[in-house]
Amino acid sequence: MLEVRDLHKYYGSFHAVRGISFDVARGEIVGFLGPNGAGKTTTMKIAVGFMTMSSGSVRVDDHDVVRESMAVRRVIGYLPEHAPLYEDMTVTEYLKFIAEVRGLKGKTRSERLAYVLGVCALDPKKTSGIKTLSKGYRQRVGLAQAIIHDPKLVILDEPTVGLDPNQIIEIRNLIHQIGERNTVILSSHILGEVEATCSRVVIINEGVIVANGTADQLETDLGGKPRLEVSLGAPLEATCPAVESLAGVNAVVDSQVITGGSRLTVDIDESNSLVTSICNLAEKMEWELFEIVRPKKTLEDVFKALTISSETSASAPVMATSEDSPESVVDKGEES
Ligand code: ATP
Repeated sequence: MLEVRDLHKYYGSFHAVRGISFDVARGEIVGFLGPNGAGKTTTMKIAVGFMTMSSGSVRVDDHDVVRESMAVRRVIGYLPEHAPLYEDMTVTEYLKFIAEVRGLKGKTRSERLAYVLGVCALDPKKTSGIKTLSKGYRQRVGLAQAIIHDPKLVILDEPTVGLDPNQIIEIRNLIHQIGERNTVILSSHILGEVEATCSRVVIINEGVIVANGTADQLETDLGGKPRLEVSLGAPLEATCPAVESLAGVNAVVDSQVITGGSRLTVDIDESNSLVTSICNLAEKMEWELFEIVRPKKTLEDVFKALTISSETSASAPVMATSEDSPESVVDKGEES
C-alpha cells in the first residue's frame, strides 16, 4: 500500500530525512514513532504529496507520488498535526464541502456524510459551528474529513496531541475502527499511543529508521541475551553456586537477598528446559520456589536505547533498514 525507498529531504543545507525505506502492507496499522524533530511530519507530508522530496521514491497503492499525484490524493486521507478547519462553518457544512472537493456527489455524498458523522460520533454536534467545538470534537472533525472519501490509506499525524485522557481513549477507539476498513499510518512520539493502537512500529531518529517490527519483536530483539529471574527460599551462598552449575546457565549476573531467601538474575541459553531444571533443583534441595520470571524490555526501553543519541542508534542491533547515502541525493529541497 505504501512503499518508501531511499527517501531524502533537505531543508536548505539541513538533511532532515536521510535515506529512509519502509513498506506498509494493506490492512496494517503502523506506528511511525520518533522524538521531536526526527522527521516524522516531513516523511508524512512527502507521502501525501504536500511536500517535495529531495530524492528517493514513494509509491501509494502502486502510484508514484510525484508523477501520479492526483491518483495518490484520491486514495489517501490525511490528518495533519494542525488540521485546518473552517471555523465559520458548521460541522455538516464543512464535511459536505470537503466531500465536494473530494469529488463525491449525490447519494454517495449523503451516504459517506452519514457514515463519518456516525463513526466519528459527531451526530450530536452536526449543526454546531466548528469554532464552538472542544479540541476532542475538532479532532473528530479532522478524522471525519480524512476518511470521508473512503481512502485506502489513512495517515494521521499526532492525532491525540493536546487531548485529555478521555478524549485520547475515544480517538484511539476511533482509529481502531478506521483500521478495520483502511490501512493506517499513525505518527506519534507517544509510546503508549503506538503500543495501544498499532500492529507494527517504525522508529525514526534524526532522519534515519532505527527499528522496524512489532512491539513484541523489538522488545525481544533488543532484550540482549535471554535472562531469568529466579527467587528461591534459601540463602545466596547455597542458591548461587547450585543455579550456576545447571546446564544452560551461562552466569549469575546479579544476586540479592530477599525476605526468606535470595533472588538471582541469570544469563541463559534458552528458558524452556531451564525452568524445569530449576524446579527440579528446588524440589531436590527442598527449597521453596517463589518465582521464575523472564524479564522483558518494554517498548519504552527500546525507544530510549534507539533514540537517546545518534551514536546509540547507529549501533542498535534491530533491523536498521537504511543508511545515509548522500551521493544519491540529486536535488536539494527549497523549503525552509
Ligand atoms: P515533531 O514530533 O516535533 O513534530 P517530527 O519528527 O515530525 O517532529 P519534522 O517536523 O519532520 O519532525 O522535522 C524534522 C527536522 O526538520 C527538524 O529538525 C525540524 O526542525 C526540521 N524542519 C521541519 N520543517 C522545516 C522547515 N520548513 N524548514 C527548515 N527545517 C525544518
